[in-house]
Amino acid sequence: MSELQHSVRVDLAERGYDIEIGEGVLEGIVDFVQQRHAVSHVAVITDSNVDGLYADAVADRFSDADIETHVLVIDPGESSKDPEVAHDLWQTMIEEGCDRQTMVLAVGGGVVGDLAGFVAATFARGLTFFQAPTTLLAQVDSSVGGKVGVNLEGAKNMVGAFWQPAGVLIDVATLTTLPDREYRAGLAEVVKYGVIMDEPFFAYLEAQADAINGRDSAVLAEIVRRCCRLKADVVEADEREESGRRAILNYGHTFCHALEAATNYTRLLHGEGVAIGMLCASRLAERLGRIGADVTSRQHALLEKLGLPLTAPADLDPDELVRLMWRDKKVSAGKLNFILPSRLGEVELVADPPVGDVRDSLGLGG
Ligand code: ADP
Ligand code: ZN
Repeated sequence: MSELQHSVRVDLAERGYDIEIGEGVLEGIVDFVQQRHAVSHVAVITDSNVDGLYADAVADRFSDADIETHVLVIDPGESSKDPEVAHDLWQTMIEEGCDRQTMVLAVGGGVVGDLAGFVAATFARGLTFFQAPTTLLAQVDSSVGGKVGVNLEGAKNMVGAFWQPAGVLIDVATLTTLPDREYRAGLAEVVKYGVIMDEPFFAYLEAQADAINGRDSAVLAEIVRRCCRLKADVVEADEREESGRRAILNYGHTFCHALEAATNYTRLLHGEGVAIGMLCASRLAERLGRIGADVTSRQHALLEKLGLPLTAPADLDPDELVRLMWRDKKVSAGKLNFILPSRLGEVELVADPPVGDVRDSLGLGG
């Protein structure tokens, strides 16, 4: 393995798997799969942007190895995480002769991964699933944890499963073609890992901000490795989201979900909402006397340097956002939970903070 190549083991009893990370590793995808699974038939699921960039070439590698290969292409975007699109994929797979021996390979961002994983989990009662995530968000977030699914009207990720991949291959070279906004949105979740559980990593991100902005592949490989390791630690402790440990990954997300809903999921990318939401949560922690202002200002400075939005859109109504948050309190016996920092690198769950403090933490005045 070169110094640019890393491996992370996600240890989940018989569902454990490897994530291999490096620059250019997609060239070795057939070997990577064959070392872990006797593959005779592969359904590559991708979207129409990633198809020409990477998925087509990946499919050719399998064909060249005399493996029967089909490419199933969906439209890009969150609207494809839909039961009807899953249905179309099931039908196409039948027509293409897929059966219990077929392996599903997702090549694309989080949308492709969640949908392809859902199709893999359900077709013929479950197919072997591999992932080659191509967005930074998918590489640091959806490659660990096994959550797959589709959205229902007004209910994101409402239908799905825990379906662990048999392996994840992450080529950081794919990030060179990612649109700037998508790249930066992914960085918000990277910063999140530092705040919730790893202060030295946060300091590393501060020190490497210029290299990150320049998409330096060695730095990216290290960042993706570290985030996958951190998320794996959390998921290993709480695979099915039962103990509450996994909740720390929701830092910034209670605010984010309200911001996304208030803007109809059209104005903010998820990661942008996370960036704004983390600063809201940090201000809330300040108001509650849990941290000093320095914890918020370090996050603010780093997110600013990484080109992320820092404030909620000024036209949003704070009362509406508060209403959306309280409507959303399906979690934990009707309590509205916030994950709040107690210092950089450590967070705690705080249930039902005073609504006035939450409102004032939005930074929207009014
Ligand atoms: P996410 O991973 O953020 O959930 P998506 O799966 O919706 O997001 O991907 C975001 C957008 O980026 C989509 O339009 C997708 O087609 C596109 N995309 C994914 N990976 C790449 C890549 N490596 N280069 C260019 N565009 C990409
Ligand atoms: Zn998120």
